[in-house]
Amino acid sequence: MQTMDSFNFAGKKAFVRVDFNVPLDENFNITDDTRIRAAIPTLKKILKDGGSLIIGSHLGRPKGVTDKYSLKHILPRVSELLEVDVQFADDCIGVETEAKAAVLRPGEALLLENLRFYAEEEGKPRGVAEDATAEEIAAAKKAVKESQKEFTKKLASYADVYVNDAFGTAHRAHASTALIADYFDADHKLFGYLLQNEITAVEKVMKETERPFTAIMGGSKVSSKIEIIQNLLDKVDNLILAGGMTYTFSKAFGGNIGTSIVEDDKLDLAKELVEMAKTKGVNLVLATDAKIGDAFSNDANTNFAPVKDIPEGWEGLDIGPESEKTFTEVIKNSKTILWNGPVGVFEFDNFANGSRAVSEAIVAATEKGAFSLVGGGDSVACVNKFGHADKVSYVSTGGGALLEMIEGKVLPGVKAIRGY
Ligand code: AMP
Repeated sequence: MQTMDSFNFAGKKAFVRVDFNVPLDENFNITDDTRIRAAIPTLKKILKDGGSLIIGSHLGRPKGVTDKYSLKHILPRVSELLEVDVQFADDCIGVETEAKAAVLRPGEALLLENLRFYAEEEGKPRGVAEDATAEEIAAAKKAVKESQKEFTKKLASYADVYVNDAFGTAHRAHASTALIADYFDADHKLFGYLLQNEITAVEKVMKETERPFTAIMGGSKVSSKIEIIQNLLDKVDNLILAGGMTYTFSKAFGGNIGTSIVEDDKLDLAKELVEMAKTKGVNLVLATDAKIGDAFSNDANTNFAPVKDIPEGWEGLDIGPESEKTFTEVIKNSKTILWNGPVGVFEFDNFANGSRAVSEAIVAATEKGAFSLVGGGDSVACVNKFGHADKVSYVSTGGGALLEMIEGKVLPGVKAIRGY
């Protein structure tokens, strides 16, 4: 399989699918350009080799052509970071765009308008009447799937080689993230540096695991993490479950949890997960004590209590000192670490200590040679907040894509290129 380093892009036109889905303020200023910066090494390497770029991305979730989601808003920043005057095609397909792509010379770059302005990108019908019959819906689905083939073929026709560097959408079987790969032979489709790094990091954790392997799952709810927890139970030595889901477990075993967050319809599931961990010989580590508040606020009065004995009118908003000690001990003795989700309401400084302690323990283990992967929205925000982002082995840029890989699923964007 070709890689970014083995492939010589000289004289070649590359269609690069990136994830430039960046947040914009009401004046269309980019408020966080991390995603653009993440793709720059791939784009620069292609230009440096003497190739030319056709850059495709989505922005937001438009339901058609919408100025708000035009990629023209981000063009100046892309040009600045790429250090090249990037051209813009105000339609991702069409005669004019074809002409622009055709005359691109080595070292030149063309940014296409938002791919999702076309329903064909996602392959989902739009504008189906609310009272449409099942037949009408089926016909609309079939029609968009048909026209998706033409759309994909057009995108592919601009380029000699296809590069996917959009980890954020690698779990979607969309035209530009997966289907397009069929129009290139095995030697002319490859992962960009970012996507390759993400795959390597997840596989190092999930497949080439050095033991002990500890996963720390936090966040607010158990319901959004069930599949991950189940898959992890087959892989890890230690599973630390913390954050808001603590109280669903506590209540399931008869604890008093005050006003703590709880999913009453998941009490049986919590019991099942505990049983499953036992059967599989996994050391399931739950918080035993909590830092509690009398309101969901940074200014709440605070105290500490056992998680099974939280007074009425109080809620668990962070782990307590005893849990902090247990978690730290387990993490520090690990050789592979995966962290997804804060162990408390880290956005409130008064309830951020537990997450900070976890982050510090991960840094300490990493310094001793462990491989640590931090990913999934809020834990990334945590390591950034605590200044630890460059002290862990890898910080993932992916949300849904990362979680699906941890769930053990094969991502369509990955399979389209390497076949598995
Ligand atoms: P998730 O998106 O499920 O990973 O949840 C992340 C959110 O969980 C963060 O915004 C945290 O503030 C929140 N969280 C963590 N611990 C608790 C808790 N004990 N009670 C309520 N929310 C929590």
